[in-house]
Amino acid sequence: MQVRPARVTSVQREGRFWRVTDTSGHTERVDFLVGADGASGVVRGRVAKHLPPLLQCVGLGYFVEGYTSDEIVVKFFDALDGYLWVFPRLDHLAVGICGPTGPGRSEQLLPELERFLVDFYGANILRQLKRYGARIPSLPRSLAGKDACLGDGWALVGDAAGLVDPLTREGIHYALASAQFLAEALSDSNPEGYPQRWEASFRGELEWAGRHKDLFFSRHFIEAFTVLSSASRAVQAIVSDLVAGRQQYKNLRKGLTANAPSAAVALAARFIKRGLGGAAPMTPPTVVSL
Ligand SMILES: Cc1cc2nc3c(=O)[nH]c(=O)nc-3n(C[C@H](O)[C@H](O)[C@H](O)COP(=O)(O)OP(=O)(O)OC[C@H]3O[C@@H](n4cnc5c(N)ncnc54)[C@H](O)[C@@H]3O)c2cc1C
Repeated sequence: MQVRPARVTSVQREGRFWRVTDTSGHTERVDFLVGADGASGVVRGRVAKHLPPLLQCVGLGYFVEGYTSDEIVVKFFDALDGYLWVFPRLDHLAVGICGPTGPGRSEQLLPELERFLVDFYGANILRQLKRYGARIPSLPRSLAGKDACLGDGWALVGDAAGLVDPLTREGIHYALASAQFLAEALSDSNPEGYPQRWEASFRGELEWAGRHKDLFFSRHFIEAFTVLSSASRAVQAIVSDLVAGRQQYKNLRKGLTANAPSAAVALAARFIKRGLGGAAPMTPPTVVSL
């Protein structure tokens, strides 16, 4: 195997081969082309011209240097198909917000994020920001799995194939899993095994996420889910598994329904405790300036 640290500038078909050229002018002839270069990559642009475009949203944010925290914060907004996050890292916070693209829509996201940061952490937090952002793709429902990621002498993995959860906008797991499925299918000399495996493993999950996005981001659902999660350890465990990728969407309703009675009891106990004046005060966020 050869790894070349260069940007690919073009891929051209030459009979049953591909001619790949990079910024240094180096060209390589290959018999199978894999696009792992993201949704806006050169490979998708070349091999997927005949396919419907991927759905798009945008993720924007800042690395806030000099701050860290021991809390993950997630915030939802009324009428925003997306959410805001604060993920603490050892020497900085990764904060971001995702939502739909389109004129006037993505421009509103960053001011919304900045307002939240100032309210939550104070105005000083805006002093050391490093901005980042990228488009986040997802698969249109009309696109069959085989067409989405495999063709004559080519395959797409990860974002290039649109393999991102349209609800959470998480794609790292799907990028790694799709690369593994493709590698195994190619080493078995059975490229068709790749779309079959990813369809069997996560097409259902991605479709579920796409179908339930509106419900999930609705005010009623978020409020009910948040109250239940804060009241019940059983629901907290389900949410934790969901975030960690251990809880499948298709079993979510079953898990929540099974825990509904204990969650209701915990919720009632909380209201009674609050009514009697015994509720513990909310702990303020802890931000440690390094
Ligand atoms: C703001 C934001 C936050 C996110 N947060 C999360 C999260 O918390 N959890 C999660 O699971 N997912 C998250 N995602 C989605 C996740 O980042 C992607 O789904 C995932 O990185 C896809 O991996 P990939 O390898 O397919 O593509 P990428 O990570 O985009 O990697 C593509 C690579 O190809 C390289 N490349 C592109 N063009 C060329 C070229 N012409 N020649 C050579 N190399 C090239 C790029 O430089 C890049 O290194 C987030 C996305 C955004 C935008």
